[in-house]
Amino acid sequence: MKKGTRGNKPHRCSFCGREQSSTKIIVSGVGTNICEECVKICSRILAGEKNSAAKIEKEEDLPKLVVPKPAVLKKQLDEYVVGQEHAKKIISVAVHNHYKRIDADNFRDDDVDVELDKSNILMIGPTGSGKTLMARTLARILDVPFAIVDATTLTEAGYVGEDVENVILKLLQAADYNKKRAEIGIVYIDEIDKIGRTSNNVSITRDVSGEGVQQALLKILEGTVANVPPQGGRKHPHQQYIQVDTTNILFICGGAFVNLEEVISRRIGKKIIGFNSIKELTSVKRDNIVGLAEPEDLIKYGMIPEFVGRLPVLADFRKLTESDLIRILTEPKNALIKQYRKLLSTEDVNLVFEEGSIEAIAKKAALKGTGARGLRNIVESIMMEVMYEIPSMKNVKEVVITTDTVEKKSEPEFIKHKKIA
Ligand code: ADP
Repeated sequence: MKKGTRGNKPHRCSFCGREQSSTKIIVSGVGTNICEECVKICSRILAGEKNSAAKIEKEEDLPKLVVPKPAVLKKQLDEYVVGQEHAKKIISVAVHNHYKRIDADNFRDDDVDVELDKSNILMIGPTGSGKTLMARTLARILDVPFAIVDATTLTEAGYVGEDVENVILKLLQAADYNKKRAEIGIVYIDEIDKIGRTSNNVSITRDVSGEGVQQALLKILEGTVANVPPQGGRKHPHQQYIQVDTTNILFICGGAFVNLEEVISRRIGKKIIGFNSIKELTSVKRDNIVGLAEPEDLIKYGMIPEFVGRLPVLADFRKLTESDLIRILTEPKNALIKQYRKLLSTEDVNLVFEEGSIEAIAKKAALKGTGARGLRNIVESIMMEVMYEIPSMKNVKEVVITTDTVEKKSEPEFIKHKKIA
């Protein structure tokens, strides 16, 4: 046996086919060669490691996941999501633990007796408070595929609508059909409160009870090998499926759960009757109560106990205040105003918001009651005219958005360069 050397005819590993140029060492025997990597695999097999060959294959296929510490993750979230401090902390810990768990699954064998539970997350909070943004930002920070689905479009098998497997299909598509990447992705299921049991949720107009959908989601939330139809749509007996393991997919469900605070205060109220605190309780705002939600409150709201059990982490999102809305307009890395400033700078035009104008936008948005969602509409309608005019205007060096532009729709001020004599 001798070490393969350059100069002679290049060797190729007889086991994996690697060429000599892509490995440090190739050992040559009579009629066979083996590369350094295959030697390592063999030595691990000999050392008695369970399934080590398969594991090493997995290691090579899996993208390197960098799992930030919770405090680092929260800091990164701060760059995009304003406020929601409590939710950010809860989520940072849950996400850190979730991805650590994947690390442990893949790379360690000594703790096989300790099973780490999945920490799927339930986000409760009003519309436009940043739930979807938080989920999307997490996926971006971790660099994992991300998919959003609307729970109300899902149905249990056999009814008109989408099968729950399509949830995984969306993730697979986001991962460019890379199954391994999809298997560590994040799925955000929106409007989860709308699939409560019909008996408790009279507003539901669908033909199927939400309970059936919850049942159908249970398995993928917990971890199963889902048969995903590659073309989507309904399942078909003769179709070829892609098998995706959902064990390590992080599911985040979100919903507004309107009036959940009443269910909670009824429960808490019952317990503390006689302690003179009912009056205090009713004066506590929804925001402070929702964080006290227990699984039994969600069950009363129409979620089935098994479903609630699969979402052990609860993060409550608060209604955004006017000052939050001001910060959203100006602070995040991709804040709307920063984006418009950048766009105009490509035309060599400076965009200025007069004092009071940003506050006026926030006030207007707050009145709409749709959280930060309202901001975009308002800013877009102000900026539309500017973006339309500017490219064909000459000599403009500055556009000033005034409070009147926001409140009374008056024209922004266009300031021109002084003419050089
Ligand atoms: P939700 O899912 O709670 O209904 P979204 O996350 O979809 O709300 O928010 C809608 C838009 O409002 C987002 O795209 C984002 O631009 C903005 N937004 C909402 N909440 C925040 C927040 N806390 N920080 C920064 N931007 C936010």
